[in-house]
Amino acid sequence: MADKEPCYHCGLPIPASVDFSVEIDGQRRAMCCAGCQAVAQAIVANGLTDYYRHRDAMPESPREALPQVLATSPANVDALFLLGQIYKAAGFEARASAMFRRVLELKPRHAGALEETGTSRSRPV
Ligand SMILES: [Zn+2]
Repeated sequence: MADKEPCYHCGLPIPASVDFSVEIDGQRRAMCCAGCQAVAQAIVANGLTDYYRHRDAMPESPREALPQVLATSPANVDALFLLGQIYKAAGFEARASAMFRRVLELKPRHAGALEETGTSRSRPV
C-alpha cells in the first residue's frame, strides 16, 4: 500500500488517523493538521493560491508557513483578520491572538481585531 502524500501545505508526513484536506485550484490536497487546513483555506479564500504555484521549497518553519504577502502587507489586513478568526475557530487561541495583534499593528483601529483582543474597552479618543 502506498504511503499517503505529505501535507500539501507544510510538507510534513500526514498521520494515518487524520483526514484534513482543502481544495486548491480544483484539486483536493491533503493536510496534516487543522492548522495547515486553516491556513490553506485562508490562502484559497483570499485568492493567494499563486503562493503554492510559485514556491520552490517548503517553508523552514512549517506550521507558520504563510505567504509573505499575507504576513507583511498592510493591504491584506483583512486577510490576516480572517486568518485569526479561522485559527480561533480551529482552537489555536495563541496563534489567533497573534494574528489579531498583527492586524492592530497594521491598522490600530480595526474594529473586529479590537473586539477580538478585548481592547475595544479602552476606547480611542
Ligand atoms: Zn501540514
